[in-house]
Amino acid sequence: SKMVYYFGKTKTEGRKESKTLLGGKGLNLAEMTAIGLPVPPGFTITTEVCDGYYKAGKKLPKGLMDEVNAAVKTLEKELKKPFGDDSNPLLVSVRSGAAVSMPGMMNTILNLGLNDVSTAGLAKATKNERFAYDAYRRLINMYGDVVMGLEHHMFEEAFDKVKKKYKVTEDTEVPAEGLKELCEAYKAVYKKGTGEDFPQDPVHQLQLAIEAVFGSWNADRAISYRRIESAKGNTLIGSLVGTAVNVQAMVYGNMGDDSGTGVGFTRDPNTGQNKFYGEFLINAQGEDVVAGIRTPQPVSEMGKWDKAAHKELMEIKKTLEDHYTDMQDIEFTIEKGKLYMLQTRTGKRNGIAAVKIACDMVKEGLITEKEAVMRVPASDLTHCLLPSFKPTARNAADVLCRGLNASPGAAVGKLAFTANDARARFEAGENVILVRRETSPEDVEGMSAAVGILTSTGGATSHAAVVARGWGKCCVAGASEVVINEKTKKITVNGRTFGEKDIISLDGTTGEVMAGEVETQEPKLSGDFAKLMTWADKYRRLAIRTNADSPADSKRAREFGAEGIGLCRTEHMFFEADRIIHMRSMILAETEKDRRTALKKLLPFQRKDFEGIFKAMAGLPVTVRLLDPPLHEFLPHGDAAQKDMAKELGVKVAEIKSRSEVLHESNPMLGHRGCRLSVTYPEILEMQVQAIVEAAISCAKKKIDAKPEIMIPLVGTAAELRILREKVLETIETTKQAKKFTGKLDISVGTMIEIPRACLTANEVAEYADFFSFGTNDLTQMTFGYSRDDVGGFLPDYIEHKIVPVDPFQSLDTSGVGQLVAMGVEKGRSTKPKLKVGICGEHGGDPASIDFCDSVGLDYVSCSPFRVPIARLAAAQATL
Ligand code: ADP
Ligand code: MG
Ligand code: MG
Repeated sequence: SKMVYYFGKTKTEGRKESKTLLGGKGLNLAEMTAIGLPVPPGFTITTEVCDGYYKAGKKLPKGLMDEVNAAVKTLEKELKKPFGDDSNPLLVSVRSGAAVSMPGMMNTILNLGLNDVSTAGLAKATKNERFAYDAYRRLINMYGDVVMGLEHHMFEEAFDKVKKKYKVTEDTEVPAEGLKELCEAYKAVYKKGTGEDFPQDPVHQLQLAIEAVFGSWNADRAISYRRIESAKGNTLIGSLVGTAVNVQAMVYGNMGDDSGTGVGFTRDPNTGQNKFYGEFLINAQGEDVVAGIRTPQPVSEMGKWDKAAHKELMEIKKTLEDHYTDMQDIEFTIEKGKLYMLQTRTGKRNGIAAVKIACDMVKEGLITEKEAVMRVPASDLTHCLLPSFKPTARNAADVLCRGLNASPGAAVGKLAFTANDARARFEAGENVILVRRETSPEDVEGMSAAVGILTSTGGATSHAAVVARGWGKCCVAGASEVVINEKTKKITVNGRTFGEKDIISLDGTTGEVMAGEVETQEPKLSGDFAKLMTWADKYRRLAIRTNADSPADSKRAREFGAEGIGLCRTEHMFFEADRIIHMRSMILAETEKDRRTALKKLLPFQRKDFEGIFKAMAGLPVTVRLLDPPLHEFLPHGDAAQKDMAKELGVKVAEIKSRSEVLHESNPMLGHRGCRLSVTYPEILEMQVQAIVEAAISCAKKKIDAKPEIMIPLVGTAAELRILREKVLETIETTKQAKKFTGKLDISVGTMIEIPRACLTANEVAEYADFFSFGTNDLTQMTFGYSRDDVGGFLPDYIEHKIVPVDPFQSLDTSGVGQLVAMGVEKGRSTKPKLKVGICGEHGGDPASIDFCDSVGLDYVSCSPFRVPIARLAAAQATL
């Protein structure tokens, strides 16, 4: 099949192909060419070739170089410059480009095709010796680095020597003579490092460069980046087979003060504001802008330098947005006043910007409401729900300095100076801020572990900024007043010193770096966010509930849009200091009578809790799960704690120890818990139901519309539910009578479906259930046979070896566990067509799982309060 696709005035071949085949960069270069934007011509070698290269044991497929040479011929004709010519050579860049962009992960070689003779020729042809040797030294450096694996610092040292000789600090100040000497020095570095002379044959250079780009696909940092992205739920990236290679005619931003190069976003990727956000450098090439060699200028200043080029850039912004109907991330170069586009792709943005851009684009008529709903990745809404610093606390904060507001958010943590250290301390449970002069792709593991990132050099498009924004992680970049000493693990800021144990606060929204811990606050949920939520609500079918067991959580979830509680775990209520003592004496009790005495003391607490929750959720259903965990979880472990408990209860330590031993189980998660507790100790169920009913009666008297749904956990057989349902109904009646309540109560009784057998026999179970709620945490555990508490030991390996695509406890295993859910719904409804069915496991807040829940006809999903907005959006996306 075809291996090379040309783009240029002669022809544009790749436009109809997929991103998977041509990579994002290649496909968009073809597209931009086709819509008439100024793009230097070139060609793209497909990702399939990369795959073939690896499958053949790192060998280029037969015929590839013939196709490449043919494309080079077309390019030569189009530009009227021969490749490898001595006097006016065609030069090319060799660029990587996978289907998913991996910022800075793979390598680019510029000015390829130069050699000793043609550099002299280029100097003559352009009448610009300085430029020609600048291009050559860059080629030797990049080729040495990317193709031959030479270390960059070897070149750096040679450059420093030349700069010293000419008494200059900036690259651009080195005169032509110096750059000539530099080329000689670089060739010597190359020879010393590789044992060979720098290759003078352009075709040879090209072939090796292509292989090197393929090679960079499997460099450690590229593999790391893909692993982290996969772990974050980017499933596409794991399925990619390789990178494409783009070979493109060079344009030169380093021809003098009328030339330059830049990068930018067509809208602000932090705030979403409709304003071009970018930077450019005069007389520079390629990575100079992002490498932090010189400090770039904001594009807003570009008009002062070259009015026409700036105007054209703004027109291109509009053309691109109209064409792609989305915000773009672009790279451009200006050669002697002429603007060229070198790249465009959909711009990464945080959730806040995504929401604003989607809403603005609806207003501008670029996209529809439905497209806006689809446009915002549901999980990125967490960025809108991120805390910020309390204004009062920030006003009073001890501001050390200000850097660039590279990625918004508020981060508070202790200083970590290396990526490894950040990783290790994160794993030990610490919140750390990674402090680096600048980050590089090797740092990604540490960046991912840190709560925030602080760099002392680099701009808004530096590696740290781009990666942090992609992850929605707080980042302050280029805080030049921060002097980092990696050896002593200290930073000095305006005369003050901070070490590893010191806490600092970063405001990624303003760029401020503050000493100590600054208090944070919850976000506001109005404006565009609220608008997007109304659109989501308009299109979703699933109801969204929350998992909450306190009035405060219920209230918050309701503010986030929860339409009820899908899971109220009553055991959480027993752990509070004033109650645990009664719980423990209930557990110690040897007779039913003693147990009831202890339970009676717990009753008022439960009633009060329920009343508070019913009130907070007035008018909405509240699913209360009866006691679920094995009793030993409520007893203290360790001698000291047992002694304290004995003293508090006035019993002997030995008594506690022996009870603990009796309660000990080998597999507590498969032991005496859930409905099994209610079978052996029905008085626990009675107390809980009594508390629920009394709370409901009390609400009714206050005209508060309480809608309790009593949920019996861990049912595996219809008989369990039959017996316990009877018990519940009986208790409801006796409680009403005892309270002499004759009004109507809206209470239903259902079950949690979390044991595979309950799914298999759901038609029988449904006879005794008003509703089902899938407890997919336990269901996943029991279906896979993975202990949830022990998966840490092997799951990372399973994910790495792709035995499971993702953590099945985070994202529902739709092909396995999902079958049980689908069967449970179908069988349950075969008995009761109107059976209400929901899900209350962790999966209820996971967009991919929500999509599945929608497809199997669930009525609602329930998730933690902070994920409610995400679930609302994901539910809409599932239906659209
Ligand atoms: P990355 O994927 O790391 O962004 P690119 O392939 O985009 O790498 O190359 C990096 C930079 O090199 C570009 O942003 C651009 O400035 C420069 N560059 C690449 N190709 C050319 C070219 N044909 N002419 C001029 N500059 C180029
Ligand atoms: Mg690029
Ligand atoms: Mg469970």
